[in-house]
Amino acid sequence: MAGYNVIVIGAGPAGMMAAIRAAEYGAATALFEKNASLGRKLGLTGKGRCNLTNKCPLPDFLERFGKEGQFLRNAFAKFFAPELMRFFEYNGVRLKTERQARVFPATDNARSVIDCLRKVLAQRGVDIYLSSPVKKVLVKNGAVGGVQLTNEEEATARKIILSTGGVSYPETGSTGDGLKIAKSLGHQVSELYPGLVPLETEETFVKELQGLALKNVRIVFEVDKKRIESGVGEILFTHFGVSGPLILDLSAGVVKLSDSGRVVMLIDLKPGLSQEEIEVKLRNEFQQKGSLILKNYAKELFPQRFIDIFLSKAKVNPAKKCHQISAVERKNIVLLLKGFPLVIKRPRPFAEAMVTCGGVSLKEIDPRTMESKKVKGLYFCGEILGLAASSGGFNLQAAFSTGYLAGESAALALE
Ligand SMILES: Cc1cc2nc3c(=O)[nH]c(=O)nc-3n(C[C@H](O)[C@H](O)[C@H](O)COP(=O)(O)OP(=O)(O)OC[C@H]3O[C@@H](n4cnc5c(N)ncnc54)[C@H](O)[C@@H]3O)c2cc1C
Repeated sequence: MAGYNVIVIGAGPAGMMAAIRAAEYGAATALFEKNASLGRKLGLTGKGRCNLTNKCPLPDFLERFGKEGQFLRNAFAKFFAPELMRFFEYNGVRLKTERQARVFPATDNARSVIDCLRKVLAQRGVDIYLSSPVKKVLVKNGAVGGVQLTNEEEATARKIILSTGGVSYPETGSTGDGLKIAKSLGHQVSELYPGLVPLETEETFVKELQGLALKNVRIVFEVDKKRIESGVGEILFTHFGVSGPLILDLSAGVVKLSDSGRVVMLIDLKPGLSQEEIEVKLRNEFQQKGSLILKNYAKELFPQRFIDIFLSKAKVNPAKKCHQISAVERKNIVLLLKGFPLVIKRPRPFAEAMVTCGGVSLKEIDPRTMESKKVKGLYFCGEILGLAASSGGFNLQAAFSTGYLAGESAALALE
């Protein structure tokens, strides 16, 4: 196998961008991918439409990564959303912006993004090795020297970029190989846990609600005195529990919260009204609509499919007429409207998590170059890093930006 200046391990968005950038600087570059095709996970992103970045301002962008966001400042200073969009548009992918500043290819097809990256890799002369899983990074005297594949073949390189992703959706190839390699080279890997993941509930009645979306609700997750609160949005019932945008975005925090005990999720079905306002509204309407059956009145409050479960939890007979509802029953309804409880059992497994939280410790990587502080010539980019964001195109931008910086730094360091 030929010798290279730069070898990139893993052809996800981070690795492909790293290889493109290294080759742009004239480095003889090879990209090793264990799958038979490039960017398998990328093909699934955004439900196959690929939400590749977000046009929100930089401070909001960084905030999506929590305290780890600061690590990305240098990478974003070099190659941020406008530069990424220019890259794709210059290379023939028309883009469009949807609600919440999310950017997608105009084709609504992630294939366009993968095809574009493949085309640019070829134009830059990157050698691509598919079905070529890397087993080891070879290190001599504290500096990288090459890679060994699982078939024992070796290739030499002066710089190695590790971009093998995390451990979520492992069927796409992201099985944590790079995390094991990083550990074997002396890097610390923080605890891994699933992010952007649906949650299982103890209540089994959710099964009856499967497919039902509750729109314009707010949710709070509580354990002891700790709580996480969402904005107003949508949740979706599934056969095992809950999913949907609000749940996915808060899920990583909920997994952390569950270290402190049993997490209860409260759904505020009327976030625009206070408890007192609902109390007054119900009192008045129960009087006005006296002979209307409660079950029929409840259609004004929430979707039909939710009525029986809600009223049974409120311990009110749905066949009662509005004027027969006692003050205690009315109070129960009000309390449940402002906080319908579900107990969180656990997150769904990594196989269903869109991102991996945790990864190679950021303290051991120079954010100005993405180079390891432990092994000379070793660089990291993408989801293998110990950072993750909420949904909206932030994770892909981080993969592209850190890939760009790692590729450029590796090539420049050859001189
Ligand atoms: C269903 C789903 C939808 C998503 N939607 C979005 C979205 O719309 N927007 C967004 O911003 N983010 C989204 N994400 C997250 C985003 O896909 C990831 O953050 C991103 O793919 C990470 O890029 P990466 O290059 O670091 O890793 P990956 O994309 O995981 O790529 C790593 C590559 O390394 C290869 N590899 C692993 N081990 C080896 C080895 N030993 N040798 C050689 N190759 C190896 C793998 O096969 C893989 O191809 C989504 C994730 C999922 C699962």
